[in-house]
Order: sequence, then C-alpha cells, then structure tokens
Amino acid sequence: MPEGPSVKKFYTLAFPFVGQLVTKAGGSTKKIDLKDLNQRYFQDCMVHGKNLFLAFGSDLRTPGNDRACDDLEAGSSTQDPKLSTGSDMMLQEKEQEVSDLRKLRSQASRKDANAFDGQAKGKDALKWLRFHFGMFGSVRANEFARAKQANKKGDWNVPAARLVLSFDDGGFLAFYNTRMDWVSRPFTRPTCDILSATFHRGQALEALRRSKPVCFTLLDQRYFSGLGNIIKNEILFFAGVHPLTPGSFLDHKTLESILDHALRFTSEWLHNKLQGKGMHHQIYLKETCPLGHQVMKDTLGPPGALKRLTWWCPECQPEILPKHTVHP
Ligand SMILES: [Zn+2]
Repeated sequence: MPEGPSVKKFYTLAFPFVGQLVTKAGGSTKKIDLKDLNQRYFQDCMVHGKNLFLAFGSDLRTPGNDRACDDLEAGSSTQDPKLSTGSDMMLQEKEQEVSDLRKLRSQASRKDANAFDGQAKGKDALKWLRFHFGMFGSVRANEFARAKQANKKGDWNVPAARLVLSFDDGGFLAFYNTRMDWVSRPFTRPTCDILSATFHRGQALEALRRSKPVCFTLLDQRYFSGLGNIIKNEILFFAGVHPLTPGSFLDHKTLESILDHALRFTSEWLHNKLQGKGMHHQIYLKETCPLGHQVMKDTLGPPGALKRLTWWCPECQPEILPKHTVHP
C-alpha cells in the first residue's frame, strides 16, 4: 500500500479542491452511497500516516474550524525546528496558496452558499470520508489513470476509478484502489506521524528500544504512522542494523541513527514525489547491496500479524547477539 510520502502527495492533489461544490460523484464503489456526496461542499482535507480524510458538508464554511479530530498531542512539539525540511516548506507554500484561493472562492460564492444554506435549513455536521489505499492505490487530479502496458491478450485495460468527484470549476479528482468509509472525525496524531513537523522523537525512541525486533516496531503505525515496508528496508540498511535485532540490544546512538534515517528518507521521498521524481532504492527488491554483497530476503513479522518481505545485507547489517552471550 502507498506509504506516508505517497499519501501526502495525494493530499497535495486533493487540497486545491477544498471549498468547491461536488457537482457529480461517480465511480465503481459499492461501499458508500454516491448520493451522499452530490451537491456537497468539499470542506477540508487531512492526512495522517497512510490515511487520507476528506470532509463534506452542505454549507460552505472556513476549512479547519470544524476539525474535531483526535489531534490529541498537537502543539507539544519536541522536534528541533532545524529538522523542518524542504518538503515541509513546499507543503506549507502549497497550503498557503490554496488557503488564499479558498478565501477568494469563499467570498465569491458566499451568496450561493447562503442560498444553499437556507435550503438546507441549518448546518449539518461535517462528514469525513476516510480513504485507505490498496497496493496500487492512487489519487489523480484532472486526469484518469491509464494502463501502463497491455495484458497478454494485447488489451489495454484501463483501471476503473473507485470514486470520481467532479467539481463546480470543471476539475475532478479520481481515486483508485482504495477502501472508503464514513467516520465522524478524522484520526490524526501528528506526534507519531513521521512526516509531521511535530513528530515526537522521544516517544519513537522509547518504542524502538523495546525487546521486539526493530523491523516489527518500525511498521507499528501507533509509533511510526506513515512508515511502510519500503522505508523500513531502506533505513535499516542505511543504519547497518539487521532487521531482526531486538531494539533492546541496540545502543542509544544506533537507535537515534535509525530514527534520523527514517526522517531523512521519508522527507527526501516526499520531496522527490512533489517534483515528480522517483526514489532509487539501496536494498528493497535488490539482489545485491550497493557494495556488491549478496542480499538476503525473508518474510518477517510478529506472530499472528501480517508478515512482510524484508531484504537485508548480512555483511552490512550483521546480526547482533545479546551482550551476555558475546563474552561468556
Ligand atoms: Zn552489503
């Protein structure tokens, strides 16, 4: 499924449509009633880890004011402002542009909105649609996905959009391979979102230093929201840590190094995505590491939970044995 940087990119595509009226909702989804989206204003947009949230309401109001989200620890930032990245700034600039645009639109359509409000007889609560994307999930703005290659029969099967939202300015958003459900409020906790400026390092380090293998903890969305399998593989290679090493075997410096690589890698990945560029992988899906060593591959995960394909280099990421067994 798309990892944090991809979902954040989807957010930057959806965000410019905030403030507009949905003139038509279509798509192949059977999970939601498309009628619930027709003639609703797209009010707000939020992202948390691998989830995207879009808010709809019958009246046009200032986005952001009605965010009754689970933003429990927002504002308790412990992150060094120096760690604010280029991609943060790009996102902030985009949000500012959109915010200005929304103000203009809001003023221009206030008359219409008031009329609509009158018809609606009072304000409805915002309804939030949560998107959780599948392996090849994506969002496209003002374009549909095209088949990348023909199948064995030579047919170019165009993927079907689960949801297509057409807006009053003529633009549209198409959502592919995603689960959708209505929620009363978005769940966001920026302190555990690796792409948030308020990501809490201390909390993340505390989770990492537990006795569980680090490759299990890194995929735990309670502490590393948005961190997925590609990021996990790459940062453990950069940090030179074997994926099955229990966090409790690692010294503070190594744990800090894993965290630094996680923040740097995700931020770079997002930066590249916003510029339409890909990311070169060091170990993920590779046969050999950049130093030419043979790479190992196995399906790893906690007992009873999802196991994920994991790649590592036994030379660059040697196994660490418990201290008391190294020198008996
Ligand atoms: Zn190697």
